[in-house]
Amino acid sequence: MPFIVIAVDGGAASGKSSTSRALAQKFNLMHVDTGAHYRTLTLSLLDAGIETPEALTADLSVLSRLTPGTEVRGQEAMMSVGGHVPADNEIRNDRVNAAVSKFAAVPALRKCLFDYQRGQKEVARERGFAGLIMDGRDIGSVIFPDAELRIFLTADPEARAARRAAEGIADSIAERDKADASRKTAPLACPQGAWLIDSTFLTLEEVVAKIAGKLKTLL
Ligand code: C5P
Repeated sequence: MPFIVIAVDGGAASGKSSTSRALAQKFNLMHVDTGAHYRTLTLSLLDAGIETPEALTADLSVLSRLTPGTEVRGQEAMMSVGGHVPADNEIRNDRVNAAVSKFAAVPALRKCLFDYQRGQKEVARERGFAGLIMDGRDIGSVIFPDAELRIFLTADPEARAARRAAEGIADSIAERDKADASRKTAPLACPQGAWLIDSTFLTLEEVVAKIAGKLKTLL
């Protein structure tokens, strides 16, 4: 059976997760939103009283206590910590938005997720999916540089802010993009050889159809 890995990267609110979710439904792929991984670890750190990356780097031992697990719900593979998958409103709020990119710039924290995220390929295979679609910032550059298809989604900042506003979510898009693009480890950038799609003037359905056309030739 052919098994395919698709890496989808892009800035905040570029449509990565919605696009990946729709493609996962269409092609029986397992979807992994790695932004949720960083958000979940951030929540655990904040709840443990670790408020800054400096506090984390001063005592990295806390990271070894945050053992990630996986819960598969339909097409979605969610990361648990301590056997608990946090609810969406626990990880998508101002408190986590303001801290997540700062923690995500700490190499030791990224290292914690590397094997876990690579391991999702086996989870998807064992569960009988036709492939894995993973979205984030460094999937095509660091986690799966060998993916069969690597996509980088972009859109004008105004279009992205309007999407978040339509979802009723306040988000620090520009600040997070700036921090993510300027960090030393795994910065946000379109990897060489990736397929760059500008969705400023495209609907979600149009982006999905564009990628689906290509996927049909690979599966
Ligand atoms: O995708 P989302 O916007 O939910 O990601 C939240 C944050 O997690 C990003 O702003 C970034 O700092 C971090 N992240 C990352 N690498 C990934 C996915 C997310 O650094 N692969």
